[in-house]
Amino acid sequence: MQSHVIDALRQAVQHGLVRGESFVDGRWRPGGAAAFGVVDPSTSQMLAQVTGADDALVHEAIASAARAGVPWRERTGKARGELLRAWHALIQTHAGELAALITAEQGKPLTEARGEVEYAASFVEWYAEEARRVYGEVIPSPDVAKRFLVLRQPIGVCAAITPWNYPAAMVTRKVAPALAAGCTVVVKPAEQTPLTALALAELGSRAGLPAGVLSVLAADAEQSSHIGRLLCASDAVRHLSFTGSTEVGRLLATQCAPTLKKLALELGGNAPFIVFDDADPASAAEAVVASKFRNAGQACIAANRIYVQRGVHDRFVAELVARTRALTVGSAHDSGVRVGPLIDAPALAKVEALVADALARGARAVVGGRALAGLCHEPTVIVGGDSSMRCAREEIFGPVAVVIAFEAERDVIVAANDTSFGLAAYVCTRDMARTLRVAEALEYGMVAVNTGLLSSAEVPFGGVKHSGLGREGGRQGIDEYLETKYVCLGAINSEPPAATVKPTKSTLPTQTLTTTQ
Ligand code: ADP
Repeated sequence: MQSHVIDALRQAVQHGLVRGESFVDGRWRPGGAAAFGVVDPSTSQMLAQVTGADDALVHEAIASAARAGVPWRERTGKARGELLRAWHALIQTHAGELAALITAEQGKPLTEARGEVEYAASFVEWYAEEARRVYGEVIPSPDVAKRFLVLRQPIGVCAAITPWNYPAAMVTRKVAPALAAGCTVVVKPAEQTPLTALALAELGSRAGLPAGVLSVLAADAEQSSHIGRLLCASDAVRHLSFTGSTEVGRLLATQCAPTLKKLALELGGNAPFIVFDDADPASAAEAVVASKFRNAGQACIAANRIYVQRGVHDRFVAELVARTRALTVGSAHDSGVRVGPLIDAPALAKVEALVADALARGARAVVGGRALAGLCHEPTVIVGGDSSMRCAREEIFGPVAVVIAFEAERDVIVAANDTSFGLAAYVCTRDMARTLRVAEALEYGMVAVNTGLLSSAEVPFGGVKHSGLGREGGRQGIDEYLETKYVCLGAINSEPPAATVKPTKSTLPTQTLTTTQ
């Protein structure tokens, strides 16, 4: 291990950011469920033992979120934004410790982990600003006696189930807009990476988030499924946001049906990366490396199928091969390493199986192709295959770039759309008309042109088809956490008539009544 990772981890412990417990109702709480180990994928060493949250703690987290929700939604958006800004400042102050935690429990190299902390913090900053921009509407009424108002109000208690590949950013991308909107949140992070989420909750509390506004429940794989069922079954929880596999997303959608919860799902991808003849092969290869090998390929928006037009194919492959050879693979703790280990043994076994399938179908590995010690896989480029390979049909989630040649624009659009997924797609071309034509034809939630990096707090991230529902980030991200309320104001077209009661013999003295209809 690099000494500065160890130092930063030691500091995180000394500063009280790491405890093997859940964080519920504003404090660290041991759970009564089985303890589980958090393992460093780079070293296979146990980093921490964490006690799992039992049913009582889950119910307490939901109840405290409901209690805290009333005063939280009554604050102004500006006031909530100020607390988010304080949280953002603390995340930045402790960025080194958070990055070390991410490197240790998730396995991405420290430079990338620092990038993730910045990215995670950017959602908190963005929604601190958006909190005061939750605008309603005044709709012109066809009736002169009526006015129509539309209010946007917090949906209530929200649950968030997050994955291991971005342990900080997937938490803040859900929690920051929810809190900005006036909701309270119970988070269940992935069993592999609970420490970062828990540290974020502790920092939120120190920033002044009231108890119950943000709770984090730690759980192993088995208890995670159970907690998922409890969160889905709870009528108090009005929204579930999930990032993870399509299979689990579908299950959670089913479990949420009885309570009719609003759902946001960020699921799997199978991103096509299309390089046209007119693209610069070196820049296209650079963009593929950025998209493909970041986080060792463990991102749902990572390029999965790289379609390259015949005229530029060989030059592109030469550029990609040279860049892939230059990537250093190994322990995420070692300086200079660009590609760290995969999260666990089953993940590595899956990548190996996909590579073996491609080779068995006649494709060739021109760089790499093998698994290495320490859960690592060689950065690999596979050529000569076609869309029938498993690695072109399934999400690879590993450092394997699969290049498939194509002839015509029409054909590649059909191939790119021939999947049940629809998260991110990439295009490299210098032709503006083609850019628009292809971007419109691709059945994806996001299209990146001449770049391999598209994520940003300012934009709506999300997919279509089996890649999910809803958007995270951007102006749109806060909509998830808001209900629309229509208010109809009647009888307001004129001042109330001053009704005069005629004096009668029995009414003395004369009085004037003001009606308030
Ligand atoms: P991956 O395959 O990338 O690990 P998963 O979809 O299995 O993705 O996991 C993503 C998140 O969903 C994690 O927090 C995990 O604990 C949680 N999870 C997995 N299975 C279930 C389930 N049946 N119910 C609720 N949460 C689950």
